[in-house]
Amino acid sequence: METLHLLFATSEVFPLVKTGGLADVSGALPAALARLGVEATLLLPGYAAALDGAGPLQQIARLDLPQHGEVRLLQGRMPDGLPLILIEHADYYQRAGNPYLGPDGHDWPDNALRFGLLGQMAAWLAGDHSPLPRRPDVLHCNDWQTALAPAYLHFYDRTPAATVMTIHNLAYQGVFPPTVLGPLNLPQESFHLEGLEFHGMLSFLKAGLVYGDRITTVSPNYAREIQQEPLGFGLQGLLHHRRDVLSGILNGIDTEEWNPAQDPRLWAAYDADDLSGKAQNKAVLQQAMGLAAEPGTPLLAVVSRIAAQKGLDVVADALPRLIDLGFQFVLLGSGERALEARFRSLAETYRGRAAAHIGYDETLSHRIEAGADVFLMPSRFEPCGLNQMYSQRYGTLPVVAPTGGLLDTVTDATAARLADGSATGFVLERLDAAHLVATLGRVGELYRPQENWRRMQRTAMTRDFGWAARAQEYLELYRSLLARRA
Ligand code: ADP
Repeated sequence: METLHLLFATSEVFPLVKTGGLADVSGALPAALARLGVEATLLLPGYAAALDGAGPLQQIARLDLPQHGEVRLLQGRMPDGLPLILIEHADYYQRAGNPYLGPDGHDWPDNALRFGLLGQMAAWLAGDHSPLPRRPDVLHCNDWQTALAPAYLHFYDRTPAATVMTIHNLAYQGVFPPTVLGPLNLPQESFHLEGLEFHGMLSFLKAGLVYGDRITTVSPNYAREIQQEPLGFGLQGLLHHRRDVLSGILNGIDTEEWNPAQDPRLWAAYDADDLSGKAQNKAVLQQAMGLAAEPGTPLLAVVSRIAAQKGLDVVADALPRLIDLGFQFVLLGSGERALEARFRSLAETYRGRAAAHIGYDETLSHRIEAGADVFLMPSRFEPCGLNQMYSQRYGTLPVVAPTGGLLDTVTDATAARLADGSATGFVLERLDAAHLVATLGRVGELYRPQENWRRMQRTAMTRDFGWAARAQEYLELYRSLLARRA
């Protein structure tokens, strides 16, 4: 089969620039596709950290755009060797801190222009007048920051690359006043209900959803949920209308980085056949977090952004009763100040039984995954979710809300699933404190005697959450798209 050329446009990529899960996907998926023979190139804004981290840079184009000024496209490489094109525009991208937010915590006021340029460059590289030696076959766009590209291609090109628009989180849509239409060089006739207009505003994400050839999201269940209220966030009608080209492909995890058998951050290594190292990790974690040294007490854990999406207020509500049930609890997270304070105060009240580490700490996150027995993920919505997969790989059984990718990746410990050995965790019937407490009652009963628990751990730890199979699904999607065009 002929080599497929892919341009993967993204606003963040691990390890150069990361604020969330999108960076992990961007760091892993194109590399996994390259291992399947795809000629994959990344496109990223030229943030300072990216310019520094992309090795020797070679100019491939220089433009003077009336709306943006001078722009250069520079080709470098990712640390793993994958080709990377950076958009150099110092004024837009070489700023201190976060790619999306200013130091005041608010969106950069010129985000429409900054990410409009990203979409415009993606379209140029994938369009009729591509400056690349060979125009890509497929342009893969990710989230609102790149979503204008399919619109540019629709309005200005005749034989562009096929486009895939992936939604990593529909809650963020890139909505701006219609006055940016001119500065973004978008035609006035694009601004209507079947086009880019969203309640009188210009929606970047909607552009990708209307003009993308295929739409994907990061789990099959989330692909269904976003076709309805409330998780469609106003776009459910459009997504339902385009359901024939909408599908869900689960995210993978980095199984090298997250491997309890050879994780240098852990206090002791272990695997599915020998969990004795896990007990050691638990003992040291209990000590490090100021919890009572009780090997037999089931330890609950949370590692998460503290945001409304994650449902941690429900954990806080339930915590006194969970302590009464005999659990210990540890939280690592940061985000909303009020809820951070609540967890701090709960840790104070239940000293020795509950602990809270407010902050972001990669090493501690691995140690918690290894040392805990049960991982709590009561998200209100969850496009895919990573931690429930990490926790299964570490033999820490997840308790999850019945939503999004959590339902696609955790097999509930029903009587039937326990009997056939496929259970790997616990799915709440509903998300509220009463159901969380009831489910953890069930967890407590299964935890001792340990026979069933061991079996669940083994099943969870040996489940395949790697990228290889996911990348194959994307490749098949690209190929079917190209076949249909031909
Ligand atoms: P989301 O992308 O919505 O935050 P995911 O579960 O998809 O949720 O991914 C969260 C990622 O961020 C995981 O890798 C998780 O371990 C990590 N993470 C979140 N909060 C923290 C924290 N305080 N310290 C360390 N890692 C964290």
